[in-house]
Amino acid sequence: MSYKTIILRKGKEESLGRFHPWIFSGAIHHTEGDKLEEGDLVEVLSADGRFLAIGHWQIGSIAVRILTFKRQPITASFWERRLKAALDVRHAIGVTGRTDNNIYRLVHGEGDNLPGLIIDIYGSTAVIQAHSVGMHVCRHDIAAALCTCLGEQLKSIYYKSETTLPFKAMLGQENGFLWGDTGDNVAKENGLAFHIDWLKGQKTGFFIDQRDNRSLIERYASGRKVLNMFCYTGGFSVYAMRGGAMLVHSVDSSAKAVRLAEANVALNFPDDKRHAAFSEDAFHFLDEMQEKYDLIILDPPAFAKHKSALGNALRGYTKLNAKAFEKIQPGGILFTFSCSQAVDKDHFRTAIFTAAAISGRKVRILHQLHQPADHPVSIYHPEGEYLKGLVLYVE
Ligand code: SAH
Repeated sequence: MSYKTIILRKGKEESLGRFHPWIFSGAIHHTEGDKLEEGDLVEVLSADGRFLAIGHWQIGSIAVRILTFKRQPITASFWERRLKAALDVRHAIGVTGRTDNNIYRLVHGEGDNLPGLIIDIYGSTAVIQAHSVGMHVCRHDIAAALCTCLGEQLKSIYYKSETTLPFKAMLGQENGFLWGDTGDNVAKENGLAFHIDWLKGQKTGFFIDQRDNRSLIERYASGRKVLNMFCYTGGFSVYAMRGGAMLVHSVDSSAKAVRLAEANVALNFPDDKRHAAFSEDAFHFLDEMQEKYDLIILDPPAFAKHKSALGNALRGYTKLNAKAFEKIQPGGILFTFSCSQAVDKDHFRTAIFTAAAISGRKVRILHQLHQPADHPVSIYHPEGEYLKGLVLYVE
């Protein structure tokens, strides 16, 4: 099989020598063959004609996302091998083959050598999300490979890329099933049940990336009054309740999220009076709240979607956390997160340090948290690290 060809400028092959999976548009000297269409598979050559890689071409500052550094055709067997490799990692991590847990991320983009592709598993349903036109073009091949890899345990594949595909590509893609059309919409995480709304929910329906951090909350919850701010599905709330919290309040500005949190709590702890949920703005709630919480969780949406928004995002994190530091009870525990990829660990820690200093409280770092093992980071692509969290003891 021959692909269209991209020739790099002299010296611009260096990052590929370090297996970095992106080629920026400025590195390209010229293209050969027919006119490129977004999503095309391309072969990348150095200025002196050496083969370097094969990837998906896209319009934007990242021009090619690399699929392989070997000269090999991108066929059914390629997708099967990549998915099988990803599944092997999940077996090694211990998130598969369990009766108490059937929610996990099978493919995490660059972290699984499949840039632009996310696949999440919820029981017998897989949700595929494409972030590049190239992966979109290949979606049926990927779905077929998924069926081969997962076999009978898979009953349906939902494709949820309406909001993640590049807007300018104007694909008009709607969400829908690629295969099967049902799938149970209750799935299990560490023995707790959750309604997963892959049809309309955020991301692929659930924030799988907080699984390990939710378990840690469970360990700290006993006897505490817990505020789960930005609760969405109520994941942290349900774990806190199992951990023996005295009271759990879930807050989200979205009324739909609040209903979902209530439904998930009811699924696990029917008629449990310890829980209440409020649809309110976080800043307003923190200003007005009367309850004396001694465990507060702050898991806001990404404040910075791009590097250009970094300054504002850091001010946002500082303002939010300062309010929590001011209000939390002495001896309280604050779990605080940032899922903005543009905000790195050091930026985030500085924002929290500033918030602590504003409040004047004595603060110790107990844990430094990150994304779980089924959201792996390729050592060649440190940009893949996005979720950061701190667990703080506030004297
Ligand atoms: N902690 C959740 C994920 C949080 S996602 C989990 O574990 O699943 C971020 C949530 O913040 C969204 O549900 C969104 O509706 C909510 N949100 C966004 N802005 C908000 C605001 N100003 N106040 C309260 N909630 C907000």
